[in-house]
Amino acid sequence: MSFESFNPLTRHPFQTDDPNLLPIAAKVAQGERLDFEDGVTLYRSGDILAVGWLANLVRERMHGNIAYFNVNRHINPTNVCVASCRLCAFGRKKGDAGTYTMALEEAWETAATGLTEAVTEFHIVGGLHPDLPFEYFMDLVRGLKVRFPKVHIKAFTMVEVAFLAKRGKMTIAETLERMKAAGVDSMPGGGAEIFADRVRHIICDHKIDGGEWLDTARAAHKIGLRSNATMLYGHVENDEDRVDHLVKLRAVQDETGGFQTFIPLAFHPENTALAHIPKTTGMLDLRQIAVGRLMLDNFPHVKSYWQMVSPKMAQISLRFGADDIDGTVIEEKIYHDAGATTPQGMRRADLVRLITEAGREPFERDTMYRAVTRSEDSFTVAV
Ligand code: SF4
Repeated sequence: MSFESFNPLTRHPFQTDDPNLLPIAAKVAQGERLDFEDGVTLYRSGDILAVGWLANLVRERMHGNIAYFNVNRHINPTNVCVASCRLCAFGRKKGDAGTYTMALEEAWETAATGLTEAVTEFHIVGGLHPDLPFEYFMDLVRGLKVRFPKVHIKAFTMVEVAFLAKRGKMTIAETLERMKAAGVDSMPGGGAEIFADRVRHIICDHKIDGGEWLDTARAAHKIGLRSNATMLYGHVENDEDRVDHLVKLRAVQDETGGFQTFIPLAFHPENTALAHIPKTTGMLDLRQIAVGRLMLDNFPHVKSYWQMVSPKMAQISLRFGADDIDGTVIEEKIYHDAGATTPQGMRRADLVRLITEAGREPFERDTMYRAVTRSEDSFTVAV
């Protein structure tokens, strides 16, 4: 079974052993939106190469041969957290062994350490600390802006925003406005997990629910803060839960256009309360990227986060729908507490090599996907 692709960038005609994929392939060829049942079919198809081929078709239509990466640094100001999400190996209760909270000076110093190239982005997320005031986080951001005025600050998940709003007795809108005024330029996509209540009740019942996560994203987009969106897969969710998650993200994106990148996150069970669940497999990792690309027709980017799936899988993902492999990171804590065996960071040259050997064209981007031109210790961004 086969049909010719309309895309001149795609070298081979579509072929599949799975007749259920043919109607989906016809829709993809015409640029038609896929529905819920299509999503479930893509998850259940035994022909992963055909699913990947379709996702690659869409990816090449949108981005040609380019694959994006960035030079960034993660900062996790505290691992103290009032929530006890069963999915988490990072958060610890106040007073427990292994807790830390950075003093502001320490956080600012951390921002400058371990760098081999000038970073273009700080990615800041952390635990829900019961005592740290809202102003601590605003001072953290303001201090970074003074010390690193050119660096984009992507900070605070929807979950952190909702927590800070509640603690500070502010509305979500007011909290976001104050974050923006302090220097937050955009927001990461964490905490989305899986939106379905049944799943959330098992993996993270202390967190805001899926509706609140989506409402907070809407509010952020409304004031001009772009964000990413994640999906944690490979635990207790089923195919319908996954498709439901994607369809809900797509609906909000239709309203706001504020999401930049979809980032599927492979569940890392080690040291979590769900440690009995096996790690994700390569097939699921690739399928998640591909289905995300095919269902989220209004998301500009799909990222295969190399820290989560390994640099090798991220490289292959560039042929299964991903157009981005994230960045240098420098110091990843959250997934390494959960047993990630990937390096905590990678050099810019390593990312370029991964992309080049995948046959793609490396494109260093800033957080807003603008081209970055750099010398040894500084960079400029094309605007
Ligand atoms: S996932 Fe986030 S909110 Fe939940 S326990 Fe971990 S750090 Fe806290």
